Amino acid sequence: MNKILFTACCVGLLLLGGTINAQVSTITNLEELNQLTDSCSTLLQTRRGPCIGISASQSGEGGSSVPGTYIHAVLKAGGTPVIIPLMNNVATLREIVAGLDGLIMTGGEDVNPRFYKEQPIEQLGDVDSVRDVYDLMLIKMAADRNIPLLGICRGEQLINVAFGGSLYQDIPSQHPSAITHRQNEPKEQGTHTVTVLTGSLLASVIGDNTFSVNSFHHQAIKKVAPNFRVVAWAPDSTVEAIEAYPGRSILAVQWHPEGLVAGGDTTMLKIFKYMIHKSETYRKAKELHQRILSVDTHCDTPLEFRRAGFNIGEREENQVNIPKMEEGKLDAIFLAAYVGQGPRDNESLQKAVDRVTFLINGIYSQVKNNSETCGIARTVADLQQLKSEGKKAIFIGIENGYGIGKDIANLSRYKAMGVNYMTLCHTKNNDICDTSNRSIVKEWGGLSPFGYKVVKEMNRLGMVIDISHAGDSTFWDVIKSSKQPIVATHSATRALCNRDRNLTDQQMKALAKNGGVIQVCPLDEYINANKNKASLEDFLNHIDHAVKVAGIDHVGIGSDFDGGGGVPGINGTNDMINITTSLLERGYTEEEIGKIWGGNFFRVLSTVQAGADKSVAKSKKI
Ligand SMILES: [Zn+2]
Ligand SMILES: [Zn+2]
Repeated sequence: MNKILFTACCVGLLLLGGTINAQVSTITNLEELNQLTDSCSTLLQTRRGPCIGISASQSGEGGSSVPGTYIHAVLKAGGTPVIIPLMNNVATLREIVAGLDGLIMTGGEDVNPRFYKEQPIEQLGDVDSVRDVYDLMLIKMAADRNIPLLGICRGEQLINVAFGGSLYQDIPSQHPSAITHRQNEPKEQGTHTVTVLTGSLLASVIGDNTFSVNSFHHQAIKKVAPNFRVVAWAPDSTVEAIEAYPGRSILAVQWHPEGLVAGGDTTMLKIFKYMIHKSETYRKAKELHQRILSVDTHCDTPLEFRRAGFNIGEREENQVNIPKMEEGKLDAIFLAAYVGQGPRDNESLQKAVDRVTFLINGIYSQVKNNSETCGIARTVADLQQLKSEGKKAIFIGIENGYGIGKDIANLSRYKAMGVNYMTLCHTKNNDICDTSNRSIVKEWGGLSPFGYKVVKEMNRLGMVIDISHAGDSTFWDVIKSSKQPIVATHSATRALCNRDRNLTDQQMKALAKNGGVIQVCPLDEYINANKNKASLEDFLNHIDHAVKVAGIDHVGIGSDFDGGGGVPGINGTNDMINITTSLLERGYTEEEIGKIWGGNFFRVLSTVQAGADKSVAKSKKI
């Protein structure tokens, strides 16, 4: 579909010549027209800018129309505009949105107040219920995919409503003011000033804290949506702009920057240029993910299995599922069969073994029920095969060695079931080792005698040893005794956040020397001492630090989603693309990003599997 849109756009561009009213052509013969059309092919080398969807309003007989000023502004800023037909066909809209790199929500009628749970007042203007649904669906679909979003006028108000904010239905009666927000002057002319919040994204885009804008509205934002902030006000305190904060690419303004751009304003053009720049990075990230292998090495999604009717193939509220993986462009996940640490008598140990076995079987049945869209993977080759079929790969791990009880034979049984890593312990000591939990008195001083046997057996079986949650002395015992590289599937760095589950610089250096990898985890209290302030930026700072200390070949990503992981901007598998766009913005190359997203972890997995005892390698093909 992209190709068709692309061709359609570049013809449009040439005929339009980049001006709004010059849609007049002097061509009247097919030869000349075909020649002009074919000249587009040279653009394959010099690509046009990212594909920017523009929402339409309803014209006669259910048609779709967009004022030329929006198209002009996108073209002038270097984007490729695409008008999205007004319709309520969800599947078609989703397909269209999936092909976009950016989305602009345009101006128009009033918003139906029922969407923010208010009754309409008398002064409410025209409401187009078809367009409300179409617009709100577009916003949700774009936001789910983290497609950069720019809202203008009604578009700004709708974005606020879509994320849980409310509106004044009519400014004159509900928020009276000396300033007119409905100017008679033309769109190209500003009529009142706005003051922009210092330090906001908008301030940095415009490079100024106060400027003049045009004004054509009688509705305005009343209560700003959660996770958004107001970043511009009119002199009468009317909200003039909001942005998603932090970590998301959503900016919305009450005025009409495209109208000012049409009049030659270059300040307002900066908003469109910023939007196109963000969209270009988004496009790069999407394309990069086609070429690399990406994996999240720790998801606690099996905890959801206890919920009746849970289906990993459906887009549910939880953080990890197949549709969200597709939105976030993630190829593979490790589902952790987790068992909480309990008593260590024989009966309890057997229960732990049963629990892990039950969860692994649960993973298999989830995958079986969704065999059209995903499959179980044990090796990198399995993942490559699944990716080539357009399917997502599900790897299996065990969290907490409690799940093998005291019977080492359980390890080969789990290995035969496709388990690829085991986290030695959780937040308490167990029969294998001491936990990292600082509030627990250490029992073994590292690995127990049984723990040493477990390390040896995991090496023999070709199963990766995971030291997330393991105490410092356990870490050092494991690194000394394991013949194979080891990993931390979900840990951050202690230098930036002093928590026991995080690795010290010394540990990361040892891990790198051993060939292993630290999979950095976006869990709020492990990346910021003030967990309420934890952000995507914090997470990226931990990645930067790990790369600086351990080296680019020893860092990856493990979310701990559905088990406590997630901060604004990375709050589900659909947000994984945000990590990629942010890494690109921080100057990481495609090769480096490929290593972080999977290259490093899969190197460890393949090394450990290749190091398995030959007899194991033979018997594992069950
Ligand atoms: Zn977990
Ligand atoms: Zn954990």
